[in-house]
Formats: sequence, C-alpha cells, structure tokens
Amino acid sequence: MASETRVRFAPSPTGALHIGGARAALYNWLVARQSGGAMVLRIEDTDRERSTPENVEQILDALRWLELDWDEGPISQVERSPRHQEVLADLVARDLAYRTTATAEDVKAYKQEHGDAAGFRGTPSPDGEGAVRLRVPGGDIVVHDLIRGEATFRAEHLDEPVIARADGSVLYNFAVAVDDHDAGITHVIRGEDHLSNTPKQLLVYAALGATPPAFAHLPLLHGHDGKKLSKRHGAASVQELRAAGYLPAAVRNYIALLGWGDVDSETLIATPDLVERFELSRVSRNPSRFDEQKLRWMNGRYLRELSLDELTVELEAFTGRSGLRAGAEISAEKIQTLADFWPLAGFLYDGPVSDPKAREKWLTNPEHLAALVDARSALSALEAFTLEEIEAALRGVAAAREVKAKDVFQPVRVAIAGTAASPGLFESLIVLGRDASLARMDAAFAARI
Ligand code: GLU
Repeated sequence: MASETRVRFAPSPTGALHIGGARAALYNWLVARQSGGAMVLRIEDTDRERSTPENVEQILDALRWLELDWDEGPISQVERSPRHQEVLADLVARDLAYRTTATAEDVKAYKQEHGDAAGFRGTPSPDGEGAVRLRVPGGDIVVHDLIRGEATFRAEHLDEPVIARADGSVLYNFAVAVDDHDAGITHVIRGEDHLSNTPKQLLVYAALGATPPAFAHLPLLHGHDGKKLSKRHGAASVQELRAAGYLPAAVRNYIALLGWGDVDSETLIATPDLVERFELSRVSRNPSRFDEQKLRWMNGRYLRELSLDELTVELEAFTGRSGLRAGAEISAEKIQTLADFWPLAGFLYDGPVSDPKAREKWLTNPEHLAALVDARSALSALEAFTLEEIEAALRGVAAAREVKAKDVFQPVRVAIAGTAASPGLFESLIVLGRDASLARMDAAFAARI
C-alpha cells in the first residue's frame, strides 16, 4: 500500500510571515489536500530570543488568515529536545557519530593536507569531549528534488558535519532531519535557501537507516524589478497584505502562481481548482517575481465575485464601521482592495474630505459657483430623488448655462465629497439623500473663498 503523503511547514518564528514563507505553506498545503494526506506544522523555535510567543502567534495568525489549516501540530522543536538527545546518544553509542575537539583550524589543516575536495574526517577525542560529528559513509548521497531533478554528492567530498555542540545542544540540520523522520514526512517543500542543508540532512537520514523524503526546493522570490523581495516592493508579509486589504482567496491564487511554471500569472483559479491542478513538478527553477500590481488586479476580480452582502461584511470588518451597504454597492466596481474603499467612499459617512486642490479647482471660479447654486435649486425642486431625475436635472443646468456637463458635475461632486474622486455622482447623491446633499452644497458655497 502506498504510504500516506505527509508534508510539513516548518517556519522559524522571526516576526510576520513573509510572502516566501506563505508560498511554502501554500504549496505544502496544496500537496497535502490534493493527496488526502496530512500537513504537519512544526515551529522551529530553537532561537529562544526570536521565538517569542508573539512571533509564534504571528505565524499561526497568518496561516489562519490564509485559511491554510494543518492536521498536526504546532509541534515545538524545542520541546522535542529530549528526543534529539536520545537519538544523539544512540548514534554516538553505535559509533555512527563521535565526539571530537576538532576546530575550524583543524578542518582547514586537513584540507591543506588532503586537498580541498576531501571531506573532513575528524579524530575522536580520547576522553569523549567536544562537539559531536556524524560519520560519513562511503558512496553517493542523492537528493531527489521534484523541481530540480536529481543531484548527486560524493560522500567523500562531504565534511563530517557537526550535529551537536560541545555543550550537547544539537544543530539545526540534525534536529530537522530527526523531526521530519519521526513525523513520517514524505515531502519536504521549502525555499531554495535550504538547498545546501539538504546533503547534511540526508547524512542524518543515512545514519538513522531511514529512507529520506522527497524534496522540493522553491525558487527565490524577487520583486517586480528583479531584486530580492523586500518592503521596498510594497507589502512583503502576509500581515501587510492583510492590512493592504487583499482577500485571502486572491492572495492564495496569486502566490500559487508565483513560480508555478505553466500557468500565466494572471490566471484566476479558485482554491478547490488549485488543489486539483497543482503540480510540484511544474514549479519553475527560476526566480519568480512578486508584482503587487498584478495582485491588486486579481484582488479586484475576486472582490467583484462577492455578493453585495459578502462585500459589505468584508468592508465592515476591514474598516471597523457598520452600515456600509449602500456605499459598498456604489463602490464595488471601483475598488481593487478593501483598503481602497474608505478613501473613495468614506465621505458618505464622515462628511466631505479635505482636498484643497480640488476645492480650488472646482469651487472658486464664479462660473462653477453659479453652476453649484443652480444645481442646488434644480435638485431641491425634483419630485423624486432618483438616478434619472438627478441626471436630467444636472444636465439641464449645464444646457441652460451653456457649459459642459463636467462644469456642473464636478462642482457638485467636490461640494458633497470634498474631492474629485468618488463613486458615481448621481449614486452618491442618492446614498447621501437629498437633505444631506443640499446641506453639503450650501456649506460648500458658504465656504467659498
Ligand atoms: N525553519 C526554516 C525556515 O524558516 C525552514 C526549515 C525547513 O523547511 O526545513 O527557514
């Protein structure tokens, strides 16, 4: 019987979950869900200074927001320390590892004597002191990478790696391999920055007499300019994406495509289809580019798939305000993120915004002020305050004054919104209601310079 697919996401909690980490989490999750296997979450918290409860919570919070659920864990690597010690003692007892006082200088001297390509072989210390190094067997060490293919390392070229310090604390590559082995992990999917760790981890598997997992090392993430992704490129972490008003479903879609070879980065694929279609073997080896403009575009598409009720719920949660349904309805076509909403439509709720330039342009010239006054009386005379009536009234003012429609619309818009960017003018007037609209027009006129 084929064994169950078991993947793990193993972040080091150093703060917010960066986008590269989110992509690794997503790919692991997709593989787990499409195979009906399990996703294990392990927190690599051995750096006690950085692994604060707050930093751990940031990781969990980012995964929850992305709706990437896990089946086992979170397992604390630190809490597995007794197990690491047990395996370490066992390897030493079986002479698969040994204590040695060899220093970096000794390694250097060894290479001078045997040549650079010769893997360092240490001398066990007679009194059992010093760091623990793993013995390297003969033969080849083969990395099966589902993205990069097979890479073979000649064991004789590999230094016998240190797996524990003289004080007994184990090293990262040892702990990872023991943890992955104990958890029955079948696929290790992680960033390319871990490529050089893989042979060392394979040596640990060999010492344990265990079959290693398959590996998949994901290409680096760059910004749109081809440089390493950083804050300069806009949002660089899941927390920042959330604050920037993206929907988790859009973020999943976009980051799934980062490096997924044969799919265009503008393809809309809902999560259930991602689960079905995702193939690790099609992930590119080349760095992928995170382009926030594309994510913005994609997020807009996701926003427009929401019903008005859903959009309202999202906007109210994002802004912490209530009663936004009418504003949501008239803004839905104009926003690409949840964060776009308030600057566009907040005036409906909090009064006109302050935009002195717009005021200067549209509410100082006597022509514009006169148009505003005419518009005000035309609107106040309407029987029904409906879209058609409002539009006809304002166009009528423009015709009567022999000016372009814009020279009536914009003064009215700036009077009610404070600025020249708003949802549709007629729709905005209706949402405000006739009384409030007229009051704002009066106030704008009174404040003229
Ligand atoms: N803890 C490592 C990191 O956050 C990942 C280790 C692994 O996936 O093997 O970079």
